[in-house]
Amino acid sequence: MNVRIKFLGGAQSVTGSKYLLEIDSQNILIDCGLFQGQKELRLRNWQSLPVDAASLQTVLITHAHIDHSGYLPRLVKDGFRGKISCTHATEDLMKIMLKDAAKLQEEEAEFAFKRGYSRHSKPEPLFTEKDAERVFPLVESVRYQKEVKVSKNLTAKFFNAGHILGSAIVELSLKTKSTEKKIVFSGDLGRYKDELMYPPEIISSADVLLVESTYGNRLNPIDTITTDLQQIMNEACARNSVVVVPAFAVGRTQLLIYYFYQLMEKRLIPSLPVFVDSPMAIDVTELYERHSYNHKIKVERQHGQLVSIFDSKRIHFCDTREKSKALNELKGPAIIISASGMATGGRVLHHLFHRLRNENDTVLFAGYQAEGSRGRRIQEGEPAVKIFGEEVPVKCHVKTIHGLSAHADQSELLQWLANFTEKPKCTFITHGEKASAQTLAAELKGKGWNVAVPEYLETVELFDGI
Ligand SMILES: [Zn+2]
Ligand SMILES: [Zn+2]
Repeated sequence: MNVRIKFLGGAQSVTGSKYLLEIDSQNILIDCGLFQGQKELRLRNWQSLPVDAASLQTVLITHAHIDHSGYLPRLVKDGFRGKISCTHATEDLMKIMLKDAAKLQEEEAEFAFKRGYSRHSKPEPLFTEKDAERVFPLVESVRYQKEVKVSKNLTAKFFNAGHILGSAIVELSLKTKSTEKKIVFSGDLGRYKDELMYPPEIISSADVLLVESTYGNRLNPIDTITTDLQQIMNEACARNSVVVVPAFAVGRTQLLIYYFYQLMEKRLIPSLPVFVDSPMAIDVTELYERHSYNHKIKVERQHGQLVSIFDSKRIHFCDTREKSKALNELKGPAIIISASGMATGGRVLHHLFHRLRNENDTVLFAGYQAEGSRGRRIQEGEPAVKIFGEEVPVKCHVKTIHGLSAHADQSELLQWLANFTEKPKCTFITHGEKASAQTLAAELKGKGWNVAVPEYLETVELFDGI
């Protein structure tokens, strides 16, 4: 039996994760992510894969983030009819996120058409909502740690990765007549002291390991979050400020609600209303209650209803356009959490449009702002930013809270890797910018690991004649 791996994404980059395993004539894909960010990366979404989509038997998905699952609708459009395997919570999250991703693709194509800047007479979206709908019947989700049969000689197991709801480390076991080989994909790994998620599970052996390296060259301390947030909020309350927090709908919004709720419960900040204004965040928060086994927040059943801190009287979900619009008249102190996290789109733009110009209000960034994004420009102190075609002066207070990432930092990656009782025969450093991946590789080499930093589209023979 011959086994090869092809790195179709997530190699010297954090997006487009796709790893193709060729086991004799079987083709298995692990993750099926969309390339995001810079244009040269996004263009890769339009290049056809070096494998026929119809020839893939199974796709295993580590978690629902679009850079790991967002290419599925396109794969189905291109003829994939196999099985998609993931955890139950990932299935539920994908239903929300893939439809949203499809809507964005359709809007983008429509926008390009209207502005006439597409080279095509009628620009086509990469995939549509209909394509996304065709993904879901192919999904067969399983619970954590349950063995899934992929083919007659291959099984898979999902272990909690602690990164977002449903996120998993995937362990593949390949049996031949004489031997058994383990191939482990870390997926994205979470943190050891996260307030919401449990730490990633221990994996202690593998023949081949792929490990992420988003923060392979960075430390991201978590201990100062509460005190920093307390200070920012107390200053804002003293100004009767409305605090607008641009935040991703999955994970970050729920973590922020948790922190604000705790600060108020402990009377470290005044009691104030928290408005969550993102339709996706509302749907995702419901999933946190349904999949309560996967995180630390207490969920109880009361009169047939699932109840948690998300149902607290202080937390208000804006589930209609009217409620969202009413926030324009809101007087402080109050908090508005709204997507998107980098202020590139979504309802948060309306809140920034109204609040940036107000000296008393505050914009609080709670996550990484990519270079060139509107969020980064506000963060770096530009005097005005364009929103809805208008130059909006930035007169409000601009703050940033560090440490809220859902990714293990360098020390946590090394902590997770230290669980291997025997070093894997080969470790590939994936899902990280070149500098991050190389720094983690050097750290591991120094400890005697056999590591490689694969390139985009590189193929590596894993086992020959086993
Ligand atoms: Zn992720
Ligand atoms: Zn990722």
